[in-house]
Amino acid sequence: MKHYIYADNAATTKLDSDAFEAMKPYLLDDYGNASQPYFFGKKAAHAIKEARKTIAECINASPEEIFFTSGGTESDNWAVKCFGFSSTGIRHIVTSKIEHHAVLNACKQCEMGDSGKTDVFYIVNDKTGTVLAEDLVSILQRPREAVASCESTLVSVMFANNEIGTIQPIKELARIAHDNGALFHTDAVQAVGHVKIDVKDLGVDYLSASSHKFNGPKGIGFLYVRKGAPIHSFHNGGAQENGMRAGTEDVASIVGMAVALKKNCEAIEENAGKLYQLERILLEGLNGLDFVHNGSNNHIPGNISLSFKNKDGEALLHRLDLMGICVSTGSACDSVKTQISHVIQAIDLQEDYAKGTIRISFGKSNSESDAILIIESLKKIVSN
Ligand code: PLP
Repeated sequence: MKHYIYADNAATTKLDSDAFEAMKPYLLDDYGNASQPYFFGKKAAHAIKEARKTIAECINASPEEIFFTSGGTESDNWAVKCFGFSSTGIRHIVTSKIEHHAVLNACKQCEMGDSGKTDVFYIVNDKTGTVLAEDLVSILQRPREAVASCESTLVSVMFANNEIGTIQPIKELARIAHDNGALFHTDAVQAVGHVKIDVKDLGVDYLSASSHKFNGPKGIGFLYVRKGAPIHSFHNGGAQENGMRAGTEDVASIVGMAVALKKNCEAIEENAGKLYQLERILLEGLNGLDFVHNGSNNHIPGNISLSFKNKDGEALLHRLDLMGICVSTGSACDSVKTQISHVIQAIDLQEDYAKGTIRISFGKSNSESDAILIIESLKKIVSN
C-alpha cells in the first residue's frame, strides 16, 4: 500500500517500468562504448541509433536533428549560449519574464560575458502568463535606431510554464520571429510527452526536452536543432553527437528516455483526459476556500497552481508534507522572508494571495482518491 501521495510531477516523475527494463541490459551486459568499432561497441551504437529514431518520430523530426544532452538545463544553455556567444556582431535575445532559470540565467551570462555584444529584451507576460503575439511584434519591430546595429536575433519562449502550466502560442510566436528575421527556441521541458509536439508544424528552430519529466531516467534529455539552423559544439572533446556534444554516451539512459517518450506519446490523449479530470475534482472539491487558480485555461494537464489568501505557501507545503503529501510552492523561502517567485511576480498577483502559492502537479500514477485526500487535507489546513 502507498503511504504517501506524490503530486509534484512537474518537478520530476517516476521512472516507467518498461523504460527501466529496457535500460538494464546496457548497464549490466551490453555496456560497451558506442564509439568502439568491435561488436560490443556496435551494439551500443545501434541502440543509440534506434533511440534517436524513436525520439525523432515522437516529435516529427529527423534523427540527425536530435542531439542528446544531460537534460533540460543543458539543452536550454546550449541553445541560448550557442547563439549568444556566436562570433557574429551585435546580437539580441528576446525572451519572456517567466522562463525557467536555465534560460534566464543563460541569457544573463551572454549579456555579461561577451563585452556587451548581446542585449536581452524581456516580454511582459499577461496575467495568465501568456506571451501575446502583439508584444513580440512590438519588441521585434521597435524603432529602427534600437535595432540598427543588431545583426541577429534569437527569440526564446517556453512551450509551457513549470509553475503555472500556461501553454504559449508557440506556432504563432515562431512565425512572427521568422517573419522578423529571428531564430526561435522553445524550452519544451514541461510539454514533451504531455502534449502533442510536431516541430515541423510548430516551425521552431530549437526545442529543449528533459527525460525525467516524462517518466524517463534523470540526467538525460535532448536538444532538437532544425536542419540548417546554426549550431556549434557545446562540449569540446571527442566526436560524439556528430562532433557537437563530446563525451561518452549514456546508452542506458538514452534507451530508457526513448522507451518512456514513445509510451507517453502513444497514450497522450488518454493521460491528458485523466489528468484534466483530476484537476476538475480537485478544483470542485476546494470550492468555498478563498484562493486564485493561476495560469491560463490552455495549460499542461495536471499542473495546478493555487494561491490561498493570507496564507504562506511554505507553511502549506510543510503541513501537507506532514500528512504525507508532496507538492511544491511557487515561492522560494529564505531565512529572512518568503520571496515570491519570479513567475508569480510576473503575473502580477495580489500580494495577499501571491505569498500563499502552492503547485499541485498530478501525473499518470495519481488517482481520484489522491485528489480527494489532497482536498480534505487542504481544507483542514487552510480553515485552521
Ligand atoms: N525548463 C523547465 C521549464 C523546467 O521545468 C526544468 C526543470 O524543472 C528545466 C528547464 C530544467 O530541466 P532539467 O531538470 O532536466 O535540467
